[in-house]
Amino acid sequence: MSANNVRIAINGAAGRMGRALINAALVTPGAKLSAAVERANSPELDTDAGNLVGLPASGVELGADLAAALAASDVLVDFTRPEATIAALAACVKAKRAMVIGTTGMTPEQKAKIDAAAKEIPICMAANFSIGVSVTMKLLELAAKTFGNTVDVEIVETHHKHKLDSPSGTALVMGEVVAQATGRNLKDVALYGREGQVGARDRNTIGFATIRGGDVVGDHTVMFLGEGERLEITHKATSRLNFAQGAIRTAIWLSGRKPGFYSMREVLGL
Ligand code: NAD
Repeated sequence: MSANNVRIAINGAAGRMGRALINAALVTPGAKLSAAVERANSPELDTDAGNLVGLPASGVELGADLAAALAASDVLVDFTRPEATIAALAACVKAKRAMVIGTTGMTPEQKAKIDAAAKEIPICMAANFSIGVSVTMKLLELAAKTFGNTVDVEIVETHHKHKLDSPSGTALVMGEVVAQATGRNLKDVALYGREGQVGARDRNTIGFATIRGGDVVGDHTVMFLGEGERLEITHKATSRLNFAQGAIRTAIWLSGRKPGFYSMREVLGL
């Protein structure tokens, strides 16, 4: 292991994403798992992070002391819940550590706090750290610009039954990409459900449909529905490891950058 490996702390380490992140941090060249943080009453505290994910012992035990974890790390990767992320944000600003934020479902006030913190530390926040989804966003921009306002746009997403927020953060970003590319403001045109006598479809709207169930990691389809043809752009995640690999790649890229708010597009050079 090189001395230059980026030291990565994971917040929410016992969660579904936290476990995938431990895995990715332990196997990605250039990364070193330096700390694994959980909430104070987590039953997994004191468990070795490697053992938690079925790998040999890593020497890093899950702990609840975020300040100590940051002192031993270059970057915090946070996939928790919005309130926990905002608490970790303050700790990262205090310790001057970079932060990768994967948690979704932030309120506008919470987003504003993250923007303000990005004046003091480097932050990359993405609703979806999968590399395939970043490529999908680029394709959506191309399709939306080319079709302009000649088609109806509908976004359908499916996730596992435990997901708390809806529609998914990724679906909302997809809507924003399409809205921006066609001179619309998503806030004004998003339609989050239909029931009863809703009348004919207004072309200006962007519709969202949400499906929840089972163990689906994350499927997104954006439909461009025109007269005589329709284009569907679909991304399917089959394992959480793809988000984790993207987040760890981002953490390595982010370490040592100057303060600012960075996007996955910048990380991937898209
Ligand atoms: P999860 O509930 O399985 O895991 C969350 C973990 O955070 C839990 O282990 C919980 O104990 C821990 N936690 C809660 N409060 C904490 C605190 N104060 N300090 C430390 N740990 C704390 O959820 P998940 O499925 O892993 O998803 C986590 C978040 O990541 C969600 O917001 C989800 O939407 C998001 N997500 C983002 C991406 C992406 O690519 N951006 C991909 C998948 C999931």
